[in-house]
Amino acid sequence: MNENILIRCRHLTKVYRKGRIEVIPLEDLTLDVPVGEFLALMGPSGSGKTTLLNLIAGIDRPSSGELYVGGQEISAMTRGQITRWRARECGYIFQLYHLVPILSAFENVELPLLLRKELSRKERRLKVESALDLVGLSDRGDHRPSELSGGQEQRVAIARALVTDPALLVADEPTGDLDRESADAILDLLGELTREHGKTIVMVTHDARAAAAASRTLHLEKGKLVESIEEVKV
Ligand code: ADP
Ligand code: MG
Repeated sequence: MNENILIRCRHLTKVYRKGRIEVIPLEDLTLDVPVGEFLALMGPSGSGKTTLLNLIAGIDRPSSGELYVGGQEISAMTRGQITRWRARECGYIFQLYHLVPILSAFENVELPLLLRKELSRKERRLKVESALDLVGLSDRGDHRPSELSGGQEQRVAIARALVTDPALLVADEPTGDLDRESADAILDLLGELTREHGKTIVMVTHDARAAAAASRTLHLEKGKLVESIEEVKV
């Protein structure tokens, strides 16, 4: 296993069956993502982008093929193993933030840490404070989501994805609901997380500016990669 590769997808196929109808959102996809890459995934609606992110994050399972993240074979793990793996190694960022409205920013960021029984209250607080600091929201910890702008809500969501210090962040159209200025600020933040904090990011986007912020862009069409370098030779 090459240690410079964080994500190895080999012949990944996903098939959904509903009665006699079969949908194949991903077909025979082979891809390497090196450690520290900021990868943008583009493609028309329905081309399998979210499906691929969900496989990489262990939210959904491939029908066939192999998927390794950080040397661990995600495609061979049980659901419990995947949940424990994700709680440490993978943060997910959504287009519409998915913050819990009745919790403060601090409490939203703290949520993933509550799964980690070994952490004391004080250790959790220090981790939440450092994640909020990283996204520039140290002074907004006690605000509810409704008291924040969209860009700030997305920053809280990024802090929540970061708080467990995962190697990998996946983001599904993270700037899709933001105005230009807030979107640019979020892209700057994601770039900084790869360059200065060594995170690997896989980001789905429709936005050419977002893709330009990434270090590589791949295009999906009908569940397949098009015109791309599918394996990185290191
Ligand atoms: P994208 O994110 O590129 O818009 P998706 O990965 O969400 O595309 O979906 C790709 C295809 O898979 C679509 O045709 C979609 O309808 C189908 N699909 C996605 N999730 C499911 C599911 N849970 N059950 C059945 N079909 C699905
Ligand atoms: Mg999608």
